[in-house]
Amino acid sequence: MLPQVIIIGRPNVGKSTLFNRLVGKKLALVDDQPGVTRDRRIGPAELLGLKFSIVDTAGWEDEDPDSLPGRMRMQTEAALHGAALALFVYDSRAGLTPLDEEIARWLRSSDLPVVVVANKAEGRAGDSGIFDGYSLGLGEPVALSAEHGEGVADLFQALRPHL
Ligand code: GDP
Ligand code: MG
Repeated sequence: MLPQVIIIGRPNVGKSTLFNRLVGKKLALVDDQPGVTRDRRIGPAELLGLKFSIVDTAGWEDEDPDSLPGRMRMQTEAALHGAALALFVYDSRAGLTPLDEEIARWLRSSDLPVVVVANKAEGRAGDSGIFDGYSLGLGEPVALSAEHGEGVADLFQALRPHL
């Protein structure tokens, strides 16, 4: 069975775009409107020869993360699927938001290994936001552009020890 990697992050940071890039097909819905992904999607992924199963979540779209159901949903999602690793995605152009901090707090209290992904990092607009990611306390952020396919080798290096 392939190890599972679960993509977590607030709406509109590029989770589904990253999912699609790793699966190599348009299995997940991508849209400019936050909250478009309604269903959890799972697919076989390959990254420079590293094979795993990837899960695209919408767990923080529909529910208030401060609420118990919101937290439970995330925990259940991770536990149910026996994820080997969480990819915590944030938007390096927008910088960190209170919701990003809340998700990071939850991840720090979980047993799940985490790789932080600073997405939308293509060009100069993402530069400052990449450094913001260190303050999440979840290790060194991997600068990525899911849309343009940049940073893929760095993502591979970050994932490999966990899979
Ligand atoms: P999700 O809500 O986290 O699943 O985010 P989506 O994958 O649906 O993407 C939200 C928006 O961000 C879409 O307009 C994407 O085209 C855009 N986006 C995703 N990845 C990147 C990226 O690497 N760079 C830029 N500039 N935009 C991106
Ligand atoms: Mg989505």
